[in-house]
Amino acid sequence: MNFDLTPEQQLMAESALAIGEHYGLEYWRDLDARKAFPQAFWQAVCDAGLSGVALPEQYGGAGQGMLEMALIVENLSAGGGGATVGQLFMVNPIFGGVSVSKFASEEMKAELLPRLISGDLFFCMALTEPNTGSNSLELKSFAKETDEGWRLNGQKIWITAVDDNGKMLVVARTRKIEEVKRRTEGLSLFVIDVQREGLTHQPIDKVGTNTLPSSTIFFDNVLIQPHELVGTLNNGWYELLEVLNTERIVTTAGLVGASQLAIKLAVEYAADRKVFRDQPIGSYQSMQFPLAQAHAEIESARLMNYKAATLCDNGEPYGSEANVAKLLAAQAAAAATERSMQTMGGIGYSKEAYVERLWRDARLFRFAPVSEEMILNFIAQHDLGMPRSY
Ligand SMILES: Cc1cc2nc3c(=O)[nH]c(=O)nc-3n(C[C@H](O)[C@H](O)[C@H](O)COP(=O)(O)OP(=O)(O)OC[C@H]3O[C@@H](n4cnc5c(N)ncnc54)[C@H](O)[C@@H]3O)c2cc1C
Repeated sequence: MNFDLTPEQQLMAESALAIGEHYGLEYWRDLDARKAFPQAFWQAVCDAGLSGVALPEQYGGAGQGMLEMALIVENLSAGGGGATVGQLFMVNPIFGGVSVSKFASEEMKAELLPRLISGDLFFCMALTEPNTGSNSLELKSFAKETDEGWRLNGQKIWITAVDDNGKMLVVARTRKIEEVKRRTEGLSLFVIDVQREGLTHQPIDKVGTNTLPSSTIFFDNVLIQPHELVGTLNNGWYELLEVLNTERIVTTAGLVGASQLAIKLAVEYAADRKVFRDQPIGSYQSMQFPLAQAHAEIESARLMNYKAATLCDNGEPYGSEANVAKLLAAQAAAAATERSMQTMGGIGYSKEAYVERLWRDARLFRFAPVSEEMILNFIAQHDLGMPRSY
């Protein structure tokens, strides 16, 4: 067990922090208010070679692993972006990068990966459905085989960062649930254009993560061509798990960075703010303890995330660690941002103090991309060997 970063990893973390701080809190506050995509930030991330850190060198990536990606996301997030930076990595290098680099044909890899890594192409992933939610195996979108490939019908909800010129990783049934022996059979992954006849989307009005829209998607007889299948027909569930488990790692990294930032803002504010006598509020133990607690919790989440990422990079099972890290990070980030706001009193509730965006954004991750309850179900069943309760 070695907790030291290599000089290369240290350098990556530092350059990520420098980019994060260059854009900083004001940049993100402005975009959040305008519900605008962080284009300049993402382009800077891509130009610095950070988006493709874990993708193969032959397509323009850096050929490193998930540990390096976690370090980068954490630092970009801590520099000012907060937890939504994790989502940017989720939709592009993970939903696009992991699915294509691991499971697509050579032609698709050569066509899409260089564009994804350079920031020229955006991805999103359509898994969640309005009627089935966390019960992904029972999703209803169905791709019916035809002479031309497949025809897709169905509906998705909460799909983040749908870009009209981008690609969508779609999870659909290719065999009906009634026709398969196990519910994990009969799902397939496809990469299609967002701009396609029969595909429409509508943004959802939401609480936070405003710089990335979330949309409802309708598929009305959408044509999918044979070369757009990614991975093995009817075996998509197991391939999807690789995407979802790496997604947990970047989610956690974004939350760790956001918490670090929220705690820093609170500590700075508490050092200056004097209410009674000439004593800063930061000198009161009752102000210090909750921030110290938040720090302890987020450090644990960070460490567990590094373990998950390292196991993943070594080709060992890491699903349990990735889930535990995400559970801890989401709870710790919700508490850290809440505590940061409490430390600031009224000003924490204003846009001026910045923490309100971090607080709104962090709240999402207690139930997305996977909820606390579903992670606890997983731990009880798989780690503790308890019976499935649902
Ligand atoms: C802003 C945002 C962005 C998102 N981005 C994407 C995206 O890009 N792509 C995508 O595919 N999806 C996306 N999602 C969807 C997200 O993954 C789901 O919201 C999440 O998985 C939870 O599903 P649900 O909202 O349907 O909740 P439900 O599944 O309806 O759950 C509701 C509540 O019931 C609890 N619950 C359900 N079943 C159990 C059980 N068996 N035991 C105990 N408790 C249970 C849940 O934990 C939760 O608290 C996004 C969601 C949001 C809000």
